[in-house]
Amino acid sequence: SKTVIVTAGGTPIKLGVPGEIEYAGKGVSYCAICDGHFFRGHTIAVVGGGDAATEEADFLTRYAEKVYLVHRRDELRSSKILQQRLFANPKVEMVWNKVVERVEADDQGLVNNLKLRDINTGEASDLAATAMFVFIGFRPNTGIIDGHVDHDEMGYVRTDANMQTSIRGLFAA
Ligand code: NAP
Repeated sequence: SKTVIVTAGGTPIKLGVPGEIEYAGKGVSYCAICDGHFFRGHTIAVVGGGDAATEEADFLTRYAEKVYLVHRRDELRSSKILQQRLFANPKVEMVWNKVVERVEADDQGLVNNLKLRDINTGEASDLAATAMFVFIGFRPNTGIIDGHVDHDEMGYVRTDANMQTSIRGLFAA
């Protein structure tokens, strides 16, 4: 074959805060389409400010009573069209300039609170969400072809004019 299609998937980037991994599958999720329906009528926090967080926060209002989008800055980096859709959604409330510091759970081990920190004032606060969906980026699983095909700094295979040449290098190796 002159062509290789790599479909190795990717790995969501983690926040790296206490409780995140511990409560994964118990309120912490990285996939709205997979897990959103478990939270029908719930209050959901979405973390991130890119296209993924913006689009998925809007999507999750199909199930949630309320969706908070927690972002560490005072503006999103997502496309304007996604932002317009999000801001027009009455179930969505923005939580600007805040980061999640800890995920907490009830005595059954299900998420029931997020400890937030305001990055400007340092003030701590609580967000009584029963789910946290994290969308702060994605690492493609291109490690299996590392060294054979050019990647950008995020691990994505370069799709410039040299890609064909680059992939031929895989067979020569
Ligand atoms: P992204 O564009 O890299 O955005 C990541 C977001 O997470 C940024 O807003 C960043 O904040 C925030 N963030 C990163 N690390 C954080 C941390 N430790 N704590 C809190 N916040 C953190 O990632 P993405 O949204 O997954 O998108 C990835 C690519 O897929 C992009 O090229 C995007 O355009 C594309 N995409 C497109 C669509 C669409 O067009 N419908 C949908 C999904 C994804 P800062 O803004 O402060 O850096």
